[in-house]
Amino acid sequence: MNANHRTLLEPLRMLAPGSIRPDSIGFDFDGVIADIAEAFIRIACRDYGYCSITPEDICSFQLEQCLPIDPVVVESIFTAILDDSITTDLKPIDGAIATLTRLSRLAPVTIITARPEQRPVLDWLEFHCPPQTLRRIELIVTGDHDNKESFIRACNLHHFIDDRARTCRHLAEAGLEPIVYSQPWNHNRHELPSVANWQELAGLVDFRGEGS
Ligand SMILES: [Mg+2]
Repeated sequence: MNANHRTLLEPLRMLAPGSIRPDSIGFDFDGVIADIAEAFIRIACRDYGYCSITPEDICSFQLEQCLPIDPVVVESIFTAILDDSITTDLKPIDGAIATLTRLSRLAPVTIITARPEQRPVLDWLEFHCPPQTLRRIELIVTGDHDNKESFIRACNLHHFIDDRARTCRHLAEAGLEPIVYSQPWNHNRHELPSVANWQELAGLVDFRGEGS
């Protein structure tokens, strides 16, 4: 890629501060709101003796492709987390609950997850969110990583934040404006706008309605 090409592409990777309307953005759950990598790494060590995994080692959604770990163990750990996100102590990502709470005062908060079961996510949200935030959350479970577009459109959302590069690329091709939540497993897999953390994400949202 030459310098001119890079200059032309670069603006596509950025969004203006305060440019996203609170009612136009939706959120993925695992890897964006909930720190599923932390839970996976902790359980892999505690229950299965795989104690040298770091988040940076997780280079793909198919963990067994980049980690020296038995695929059956990978499946068992994810099943445990997805079945019961409270007992497995799935933690919020720093800043997620505070920013969602702030957003919830301005607009309903829509969470669209590819998880198959709604109850464990609802239990988790009830555990971690203040009641006034919880009341404003709409949770949609799609059971499929590749069908979020129709749900995003049905909710009249234009932006969607997700940690799966393939999901974000698909949404961009469909004319929506996805934002990649940066994680080791999506690095160098996209040319889309991204945020490194919830502070950066909050900076993109138009919070001017807060004072009114
Ligand atoms: Mg995710």
